[in-house]
Amino acid sequence: MQVQINEAVLEIVEGDITQQDTEAIVNAANNELRVGGGVDGAINRAGGPAIQAEARQIGYCPTGQAVITTGGNLKAKYVIHTVGPIYRGGTSGEADLLASCYRESLKLASARSIKSLAFPSISTGVYGYPVAQAARIALRTTADYLEEHPEIRLVRFVLFGQQAYEVYAKELEKIGG
Ligand code: ADP
Repeated sequence: MQVQINEAVLEIVEGDITQQDTEAIVNAANNELRVGGGVDGAINRAGGPAIQAEARQIGYCPTGQAVITTGGNLKAKYVIHTVGPIYRGGTSGEADLLASCYRESLKLASARSIKSLAFPSISTGVYGYPVAQAARIALRTTADYLEEHPEIRLVRFVLFGQQAYEVYAKELEKIGG
């Protein structure tokens, strides 16, 4: 499912982010940029040790911020690592931090002239963010950014499993499916 935002495409697919052919894929990293489980583990396994070696050089990423490494053996040339908030009930600034993850990742893409990127559903695994709320923030923040940044042509959300896909589909419909 996709929507057009000016010249850009915002789309959602069900699948595995490690297999995407966008110029960059985004990783749901941790503050220390150490290989973890979930999507982080999958990206590092598929991309090989070069990604972790570069991430260790960078060393740290605050929650809500993003850093970039090359993509190692992945089809994607770059991996943008962003650190989502751990969900603690929703009253600890989680929504702003999650929106910031998407915005800062997109800003890094713009700065590197990256025209296509794929996101996983940040914070909705081990970090416990409720998927419907996270989907709304992810899609709205991205749609707002694309309105103002025609340099990015494609943003794809890659949802792991049909359940997450359906939640995102419901939110994308509200944006203008
Ligand atoms: P976080 O710590 O930010 O919650 P997780 O990696 O635990 O990060 O989960 C983030 C989301 O990524 C979850 O919705 C999970 O289902 C999803 N995920 C896990 N593996 C993959 C993959 N290979 N491709 C896309 N999404 C994935």
